[in-house]
Amino acid sequence: MASIGRFQKGEEIFHAKVVDGELYRLRGDVFGSPSFDKRPTPRKGLRTLVPVAPSKIVAVGLNYKDHVRETGKSLPKSPIIWFKATTSLIPDGAKIELPFPNHRNDYEAELAIVMGRRCRNVTAAAAARYILGYTSAQDITDRTIQAAEGQWARSKSFDTFTPLGPYIETKIDPHDLTLQLFQNGQLRQNGHTSEMTFNCFRIVSFVSTNITLLPGDVILTGTPSGIGRIQSGDRLEVRIQGMAPLVNAVK
Ligand code: MG
Repeated sequence: MASIGRFQKGEEIFHAKVVDGELYRLRGDVFGSPSFDKRPTPRKGLRTLVPVAPSKIVAVGLNYKDHVRETGKSLPKSPIIWFKATTSLIPDGAKIELPFPNHRNDYEAELAIVMGRRCRNVTAAAAARYILGYTSAQDITDRTIQAAEGQWARSKSFDTFTPLGPYIETKIDPHDLTLQLFQNGQLRQNGHTSEMTFNCFRIVSFVSTNITLLPGDVILTGTPSGIGRIQSGDRLEVRIQGMAPLVNAVK
């Protein structure tokens, strides 16, 4: 496999491998041992969906030292995790809607892990075997509500607050990637995944200790420094090395 997307045509939803812009339909289970059509499927009339439908979205906070510094918080000794509602997901190209546009609402570009196999209590050394691949994400945050409530789930779970995709990259080193966010064409975040305090394998190990992870579950691994406010009319683009960009407008 390599780049895997999820698409809809009419009532039908399917995965496909994306090669040079062409789609090759996946046959069988994306989490099993699928095969692919030899001939491409026409893109006409297809809608790009989020690449998986997870049972849960786990998010990790304060995982880049320079971002911890800009928040004025202290460096966590173990991963800080919470859950984002799965109903907050939107695909590449869909609009982020701000329920409280007068609040401070922020972008946060993040690398997302997509689980490939059910696991519980795996070691960091074994974690890679349970991961299907990686994709781009945003952890959109209503900072005003986050500060007022002291816990993070609601302020990061509003509908449309988790852009994800467009594709899952299955052949990529998750710890050697530039990670950038552009706001209206301006570079705002410019990090590197090697700067994570807890890398992807340690995160999967930590989360899975007492929480079963299922195929398709998504883990957001934290954002680098450079967070900033968004407003209606913005065009946000997450660019992670080796991945197609994740582009979403704000309304
Ligand atoms: Mg975040």
